[in-house]
Amino acid sequence: MTNMQLPDFNALQAKDIEPTINQLLADSRAALAQILSNQQTPTWQNLVQPLEQIDLQFERIWGPIGHLDSVRNSDEWHAAYDACLAKVTEYRTEVGQNAALVAKFKALANSAEFAQLNLAQKKVIENALRDFRLSGIDLAPAEQAEYKRISQRLSQLTSQFGNQVLKATQAWSKHISDKKDLAGLPESALGLLAQYAQQKQLDGWRVTLDFPSYLAVMTHANNRALREEVYRAYATRASDQADNKDFDNSANIAEIRQLRHELATLLGFNNYAERSLATKMVESTEQVVGFLRDLGRKAKPQAERELQTLREFAAKELAITDLQPWDVTYAGEKLQLKTLSLSQEQLKPYFPVETVLKGLFDLVETLFGVKTVQTLGVSVWHDDVRFYQLINEQNQVIAGFYLDLYARENKRGGAWMDVVNSRWRHPDGSLQAPVAYLVCNFTPPVGDKPACLTHDEVTTLFHEFGHGLHHMLTEMEHLEVSGINGVPWDAVELPSQFMENFCWEREGLDLISAHIDSGEPLPNELFESLKQSRHFQTAMMLARQLEFSLFDFLLHAEYNPQQPQDLQAVIQQVRAEVAVIQPPSYQRFAHSFSHIFSGGYAAGYFSYKWAEVLSADAFGLFEETGVLNPETGHKFKNIILAAGGSIDPMLLFKAFRGREPQIDALLRHSGIAS
Ligand SMILES: [Zn+2]
Repeated sequence: MTNMQLPDFNALQAKDIEPTINQLLADSRAALAQILSNQQTPTWQNLVQPLEQIDLQFERIWGPIGHLDSVRNSDEWHAAYDACLAKVTEYRTEVGQNAALVAKFKALANSAEFAQLNLAQKKVIENALRDFRLSGIDLAPAEQAEYKRISQRLSQLTSQFGNQVLKATQAWSKHISDKKDLAGLPESALGLLAQYAQQKQLDGWRVTLDFPSYLAVMTHANNRALREEVYRAYATRASDQADNKDFDNSANIAEIRQLRHELATLLGFNNYAERSLATKMVESTEQVVGFLRDLGRKAKPQAERELQTLREFAAKELAITDLQPWDVTYAGEKLQLKTLSLSQEQLKPYFPVETVLKGLFDLVETLFGVKTVQTLGVSVWHDDVRFYQLINEQNQVIAGFYLDLYARENKRGGAWMDVVNSRWRHPDGSLQAPVAYLVCNFTPPVGDKPACLTHDEVTTLFHEFGHGLHHMLTEMEHLEVSGINGVPWDAVELPSQFMENFCWEREGLDLISAHIDSGEPLPNELFESLKQSRHFQTAMMLARQLEFSLFDFLLHAEYNPQQPQDLQAVIQQVRAEVAVIQPPSYQRFAHSFSHIFSGGYAAGYFSYKWAEVLSADAFGLFEETGVLNPETGHKFKNIILAAGGSIDPMLLFKAFRGREPQIDALLRHSGIAS
């Protein structure tokens, strides 16, 4: 029998956060003391199980608080969250550095019982021992105190970084009262900007730096000066170059870099990049840099040709003779329209949100044998949010997820999956079902028209759903390796990027497209154009991803504590190597690069590309055996998805594919000659 532990999002108020977390920490410390006072030989039952119960309480109580900070942010909430974050980090460091606890784990690892445990259980113990090492267990007391101080400060700084980006994004807007200034924008985008204006009791339109608004202007606004202005505001967010310097992240970045390096060297690593790889699938910093540079070499000549084509087109057709970064998306859209007779706007009516969702759910049922059913009456944090259950072939509810689709104020940008609950077997035998948050920032419905998604948004939805499936279709029963828990970050994007592939295949598109008025599936000529568009400027896009990845990695791998490299100099060096577009000198993308300065991707942004090699190659088996082949689908589910973090991802991949991963499928999907 599975049970689901769903949070009541409206029961908790900002003022309750601190007392609640104080209680949680007190309870956890008491439970830990109890475990440590046990004089018996450590066993799975008297050591790991009670620790799991503590972690479970964090998942249930602390998890929703952090979640609401992202999706229903207020100053009051954030202040309370921030105050508790320091305490939670302190507690975790305490546990991570608890000598008595690690002694118990070592004893368990060396006990006769260990050999009797299953693979997942062994992995839990091995990971725990690894993580103890990484949280400084072997350090002398003075160094341990130092480690603790640095960790706490880092978690403050990274939280501050993210909050500054959010605030900087919200601080800028431009009110427009003459529609002529927005010429070129499609009706849907105009409607959104009008809605943004209404929210502030303004007439006309309001351009903001929320991603849908930013993208609409960069893609469609004929007004070049407006594009430049919005580009500048966006590219200087939270930096010293912004008009409003209140949210400058420069000092945060400098301190984060310094402290990460100190933390890594305390643990005996040469730099933070090495520390990052200690929990990843990749084995060495050389391997990462080699991988990125190799891809860079393969992509750059083609990226240069693509850019040249764009320049010539812009000069000839758009009278833009000096193509600038704020022209690239705009001219790209026009070029794509001309050569492929295709635009995101043209595709949009074929992807009404309900059709896409239904198609996605049907696809998941065909491939993996699970049904998705909406449940009403579940407590949510906003009226837009829905809740669904996954039901298996035996008609059992096995998982659930929240779906929060649309961009709105006080919600962090981007799209992500996060854990509500993990699949977990209670010592009494009952099973807790895994539950996920799926959060996107799609253009909300305007007026009473149902929302239609761009193809990009559809792909994003599939991506996040892939993470969700990884978490929800796990068969693991131990918290630390259940679902996405314990999966190395450079393998965690495998299921997500894998799912994106279905948005490019006829079989997938037939399931998820139906014109909003006529109900027609995506016509063949549009499909052909879409297929071609997949290769449109792919080398330029790859170059951009490599720029982010290599910047992130070298920034951490080559940090010099005596003389920290100037941030912009590192960016310049990387651009000289892999980029084809050179942005203006005021551009400060690092200052809003939340992935690496407030998310978990520090010295790990390369993971996206690394995992894409795996996901493209895994999808290759579907290309060979049939895109909607349930047998291959079940194989994927039973090998890759079910195992969670219990087995080395390289072994899982080889078990699924029958061989080591190859880079060819990624290059083929990107249209780049290998
Ligand atoms: Zn992802």
